Amino acid sequence: MIPYKLVSLETRREPTVVRLANGATFGGEALAICAGPCSVESREQLCATAKAVAQRGANVLRGGAFKPRTSPYAFQGLGEEGLKLLREHANAHGLAVLTEVLDVRDVELVARYADMLQIGARNMQNFSLLREAGELHVPVLLKRGIAATVEEWLMAAEYLLLAGNKDVVLCERGVRSFDSATRNVLDLAVIPLLASLTHLPVIVDPSHGTGVARLVPPMAIAGIAAGADGLLVEVHPNPAVAVSDGGQSLTFAAFGELMTRLPGIARAVGRTLPAATVAA
Ligand code: PEP
Ligand code: MN
Repeated sequence: MIPYKLVSLETRREPTVVRLANGATFGGEALAICAGPCSVESREQLCATAKAVAQRGANVLRGGAFKPRTSPYAFQGLGEEGLKLLREHANAHGLAVLTEVLDVRDVELVARYADMLQIGARNMQNFSLLREAGELHVPVLLKRGIAATVEEWLMAAEYLLLAGNKDVVLCERGVRSFDSATRNVLDLAVIPLLASLTHLPVIVDPSHGTGVARLVPPMAIAGIAAGADGLLVEVHPNPAVAVSDGGQSLTFAAFGELMTRLPGIARAVGRTLPAATVAA
């Protein structure tokens, strides 16, 4: 007997389509392309990145204002100032805002600025955070935990649906393994597997999935070919000086090149790229 109910295909046969305020959809024919820096660092950095990713075809601006860092001495994020920058620069280019909420105490604050809340890998089983985000009815991107099984991941999504939130998107971002050749092992087999288990959309994060910028475009393409409903990609104006995840961040040029390759791949699997965002 499968332990999850609301996320299962037994409860709902048709795929869920999650729609954000700017028209971005997860689970429809059009892919969702979420791009932006790992951390919001400054006005200049975010202004340039929002413009660059919108011009190259992204429809969701990602960026961390509250950062889950392994070291307490590492940059922890700009907090509300970062949220304000995200909202301002996303609006300027017709993008939606996707940003992580780390703490149950910040859910309402983050939801005031964001179109979609990211619950990160480290918090996938933070059950009070899931309940709180579930009650708020703001779309949620639920990343797979660092060592989470598919069943644990779907049970975490079940918390969100049980709390009343139907707008949930899963994100495969790689799992930890014995091999440090790549940062994580990007598990693309879960994309078709999840399609047989759940009605929820699934996107792929090849940035955290590989940890290596040059591996990001091929794995992004592989994710779309496997049936993912979109991508989450880290992009930075100058990855060499990024305060977090520079080694896996694409330059504007590399992101642009990936975006020019996507339409052909998308067409081959019956998908389209997002319609151009307004005022890119
Ligand atoms: C991120 O998206 O920057 C992030 C911290 O992701 P994850 O939770 O997958 O590590
Ligand atoms: Mn990151």
